[in-house]
Amino acid sequence: MEIRSAKYLISSPKVENCPPADKPEYAFIGRSNVGKSSLINMITNQTKLAKTSSSPGKTQMINHFLINNSWYIVDLPGYGFAKVSQTQRANWQKMISGYLRERKNLVTVFVLIDSRHKPQQLDLDFIAQLGEWGIPFNLVFTKADKSTQREAHQNMRAFIERMKEEWEFIPRAFMTSTVKFLGRKDMLEYIGELNEGWGKEE
Ligand code: GDP
Repeated sequence: MEIRSAKYLISSPKVENCPPADKPEYAFIGRSNVGKSSLINMITNQTKLAKTSSSPGKTQMINHFLINNSWYIVDLPGYGFAKVSQTQRANWQKMISGYLRERKNLVTVFVLIDSRHKPQQLDLDFIAQLGEWGIPFNLVFTKADKSTQREAHQNMRAFIERMKEEWEFIPRAFMTSTVKFLGRKDMLEYIGELNEGWGKEE
C-alpha cells in the first residue's frame, strides 16, 4: 500500500469523543520509549506526525490520524512509566480499557515490544489482558538495528515461546527498525489486506 496522505485529526480523552467509527482502525501501544512515535512516523512516511519522546504522563489521550482518507491510526499512551501516580495509572487503565473494549472499528492492536530485551512481564501482562477482553492484536518488535539480527530474532522467538505457554493462537509478528526502514512494507501490506476485508464479515 502507498501512503498518499496522513494527517493528525484529534486527541480524545475517552472513547466517546473519538471520530465516527466508520473506517478501519489500527491502534499502536507499548511501554514508554519503545519507539511508537518513530514507528508511526515511519509507516506514514512523515517526520513529525507522531511526536517522538513526548513527556511521560502528559499524552494521556487517544490520538487519531487519518491515512489515505480511508483508515485510522491511533496512537495510544504507553504503559510502564515509572514516574506516574496511582491516579494517573488508574486513569490510563480506565481510558485504555474503555477504548479497546468499546471501539467498534478497531481492527487490531499493534503491541510494540523492544527487540533488545528478553520477554518482559509488563508486555506479557498487557497481552494477557487483551486476551481476556478478546481483542485482536499483533506484535511489532522495534529497534531491530540496535542489536544483532540474531539477538533480535532470538528475543522475538523467546517472546513467542512464552506466549505459547498461555495461548494456542500466535498472532503475526513484525520485526522493525525505523533507522533501517525495516518492516514498513510488510506492515502496510498487512494493513492493506485487513482494510480490504473490513466490513465484509458482518
Ligand atoms: P515512544 O516513546 O514509544 O513514542 O518512542 P520514540 O519513538 O520517541 O523513540 C524513543 C527513542 O528510541 C528515540 O530516541 C528514538 O530515536 C529511538 N528509536 C525509536 N525507534 C528506533 C529504531 O528503530 N532504531 C533506533 N536505533 N532507535 C530508535
